[in-house]
Amino acid sequence: MSDNFDVVVIGAGPAGYAAAIRCAQLGLNTACIDKSLGKDGKPVFGGTCLNWGCIPSKALLDASHKYLDAKEHFAEIGITVESVGIDVPRMIARKDKVVSGMTQGIAGLFKGNGVTGLAGTGKLLANRRVELCPHEGNATIIQAEHVILAPGSVPVEIPPTPIDGDRIVDSTGALEFTEVPERVSVIGAGVIGLELGSVWSRLGSEVVVLEALEEFLPMVDQRIARDSLKIFKGQGLDIRLGTLVTGSEVRAGEVVVSYRDNVGEQTVTVDKLIVAVGRKPYTEELLAPDSGINLDEGGFVKVNDLCATDAPDIYAVGDAVRGPMLAHKGTEEGVMVAERIAGFKPLVNYETVPSVIYTHPEIAWVGKTEQEVKTSGESYAVGQFPFSASGRAQAANDTQGIVKVIADAQTDRILGVHVLGPQASEIVAQAVIAMEFDASAEDLGLTMFAHPTLSEAFHEAALSVAGHAIHVVNRKKRN
Ligand code: FAD
Ligand code: NAD
Repeated sequence: MSDNFDVVVIGAGPAGYAAAIRCAQLGLNTACIDKSLGKDGKPVFGGTCLNWGCIPSKALLDASHKYLDAKEHFAEIGITVESVGIDVPRMIARKDKVVSGMTQGIAGLFKGNGVTGLAGTGKLLANRRVELCPHEGNATIIQAEHVILAPGSVPVEIPPTPIDGDRIVDSTGALEFTEVPERVSVIGAGVIGLELGSVWSRLGSEVVVLEALEEFLPMVDQRIARDSLKIFKGQGLDIRLGTLVTGSEVRAGEVVVSYRDNVGEQTVTVDKLIVAVGRKPYTEELLAPDSGINLDEGGFVKVNDLCATDAPDIYAVGDAVRGPMLAHKGTEEGVMVAERIAGFKPLVNYETVPSVIYTHPEIAWVGKTEQEVKTSGESYAVGQFPFSASGRAQAANDTQGIVKVIADAQTDRILGVHVLGPQASEIVAQAVIAMEFDASAEDLGLTMFAHPTLSEAFHEAALSVAGHAIHVVNRKKRN
């Protein structure tokens, strides 16, 4: 291995591997270091997203959704199934196969693009030197022209519920249960709590979700949050808001979780406790004292809008820097930095980062919520369309939810799009494109959508901003 590179990337999650691949595509001699080991103990690339995050959680979400459909909803559409069973080890093994296919894919992409993938821990020293500590053998020093830090994030732990990896687990442990626990509690009704709570609830666990805040999903448009809470409770998720977890005791193969709510001291006894109270940037072992990098008060690597750190030619991207902890946000930052190093001038548009919660129905949004627009004092108009009025949703027996479009009342420019419904994640991608091109609600109304599609609900919601929806009686709301 050469010990000189144009670019060294530390971390091969979606932010780091994308940066490394794009650098190599642009002709830069690039190495990417990652210390992760897979379930078989061998080095893996792909970071949290591929190994313990987006991909494995979606594999279990899809499998559990299919199981529930077969068990509870097939009869409604005239399909009778004699008996529907669950083979959890097989479900987990399939999830693992998907993960290893994806992580091997990254190794293949590194090879195909000429990125030198290195297994071990990378530490940034002074003057763009990087120390590589391989899993076995001696450390080496690599000299780089540019360094991109992409170390990602790890779960937050709270003192009342220390992770033991057996009864009390974090999101990684919650992807590995070998049987369906009878009783599960999740601390945190955030994205992970709702997604993994849904997985085990669909597979038959009684799930109690303990959330500290009084408000459900405060970052989501209030109408969507309200409707989704009702739906999730109807699905059997016992979501208890305003609960402060005070302690836990593991005894006789179960966990007793203590919490305080407006009634007083309470306990819930479960077989598994999942702690999902957020993630924090991971910078342990990353920075030598004289690396020249500063962290902000939250422990994130301090960067400007272009992901440049305080040290020349050192950049940081992904979960370890400010902004939402989302794979696609990190990927866009990684690609932007690679192109800037190569002399181009792209930007990341942080106004159009889409968010998705992969429950069923899904919740997806981009741009401002109605409460944000209202607080800012902007005058705005809202268009809404329910999936119950969508022919495709009716045909698919999947009619819960709405699409909501918020537009500027003066210019008609789209300010935000919020979807609760089937394939909301795919529909919101169309909203992102529209907003990237500064579309107005009228532009969307004038665009032809194929019939019958779920996307027509987005078209109709845009039409309804001006009171022109065809398949629903318009209730024009201007503010
Ligand atoms: P990471 O993916 O965390 O990768 C960082 C890598 O760097 C890791 O492999 C780490 O071991 C390595 N590393 C750290 N320090 C060093 C060092 N010093 N030397 C060498 N290697 C180092 N996001 C979405 O957008 N959509 C989803 O559906 C989604 N689902 C999720 C589900 C779960 C259960 C979880 C936990 C997260 C999910 N996320 C999702 C979030 C997403 O996984 C992260 O936003 C994303 O992985 C961040 O990418 P990253 O490259 O910044 O960091
Ligand atoms: P989160 O911030 O989404 O939710 C954490 C929840 O826990 C919050 O509602 C918070 O109020 C609550 N909480 C915090 N401390 C608590 C306590 N002591 N007791 C009770 N409740 C408490 O975090 P997460 O769900 O852990 O997810 C972490 C990150 O991973 C998120 O930032 C998210 O962006 C990312 N992620 C994204 C996806 C996706 O894009 N679909 C999926 C999973 C994770």
